[in-house]
Amino acid sequence: MWRASTVVFDDMARFARRKENLYDGYTYGTTGTPTSRELEARIAALEGGNHCVVVPSGQAALCLVLLALVRAGDHVLVPESAYGPLKTFVREWMQGYGVEFSFYPPSAGSEIASRITPTTRVVMMESPGSVTMEIQDVPAIAAAARAAGAISVVDNTWATPLGFQPLAHGVDVCVEAASKQFGGHSDVLLGAITTNDRGLYEKLRRAQSVIGLPVSPDDCFLVLRGLETLKVRVHAQGRAAEQIATWVARQPEVAEMFYPPLPQARGHALWKRDFSACGCVMSFAVAPGVDEQAMGAFFNALQIFSIGASWGSVHSLAGYYPAAEQAARANPVTRSAVVRLSIGLEDPEALIADLDSAFRVCRAALR
Ligand SMILES: *Cc1c(COP(=O)(O)O)cnc(C)c1O
Repeated sequence: MWRASTVVFDDMARFARRKENLYDGYTYGTTGTPTSRELEARIAALEGGNHCVVVPSGQAALCLVLLALVRAGDHVLVPESAYGPLKTFVREWMQGYGVEFSFYPPSAGSEIASRITPTTRVVMMESPGSVTMEIQDVPAIAAAARAAGAISVVDNTWATPLGFQPLAHGVDVCVEAASKQFGGHSDVLLGAITTNDRGLYEKLRRAQSVIGLPVSPDDCFLVLRGLETLKVRVHAQGRAAEQIATWVARQPEVAEMFYPPLPQARGHALWKRDFSACGCVMSFAVAPGVDEQAMGAFFNALQIFSIGASWGSVHSLAGYYPAAEQAARANPVTRSAVVRLSIGLEDPEALIADLDSAFRVCRAALR
């Protein structure tokens, strides 16, 4: 593992020309070390890309894409189902810097063309979307963006490259929150941006260095370690998630299950067409009449699931999203509270038993 602020050079001439090394070599610790470059090469290979930039978090990766590629007067399109902090960044920061934006319904396919204006520079996607898991027609949107001269970007965190390969579907830039399945143990934060386009890569690398977003080699090491077991974790957690989602969908407290691999779920047809693995995260809309106090009893009764944000770890997690958050969104798929479950590597039968007893406590609280 390489730690560095300083990079040393063999002679004065090489030091004086060090900026030439920005994209493929080493100049100073902020622009990368052999450890971060090794992680970038492995992630690029997984994504089927040529270039990758790692940054301190998934949110930093999303923000860096916009800071690197968008300027005042440009317009960006962001799905209504996008990761919440990205929408906040666009609304409260990018807009303040003179960038125009529109949120679009994630159900838009090739009709996205009608929302692309002459100044649209970037079309963001996230599939499935955060919390309510809308699947987007990524190839159609990427094609429409390309035809209009805009850059397409997908947040591919749910699927990982083992479940979906955005670059092979015509997308220009793929973002992963490596804090989730890549790291896999809820003990590291990291983000990755991958592309096949050398020009885009140079813009991203330059922005990473100028804005000052280097990643600690210890964090790179943890993600490199996580990648060694990515395949077995993704497949085991996905299989368990499918089994658990099938069971959860039948509970009377569940109004709608948001898990695209289930045949009855929204987005299943697109999921089946484009994806090759089940993710480990699912959500459900709470049935009418199951109030917040009863859901509190459900959460507090959980023994194996921890309560917390993030997901993709070997440890199962549950999160609660109040009804008001859904209602505040444009085109919400539900106006109920939403529960999100991330399935870890514990015994799936034990996880179902844990949920079963929590649902019983919830039912008792309603009487
Ligand atoms: C968690 C998450 C992020 C942000 O990643 P952090 O590393 O936690 O900042 C971005 N996109 C999606 C889809 C996520 O689930």
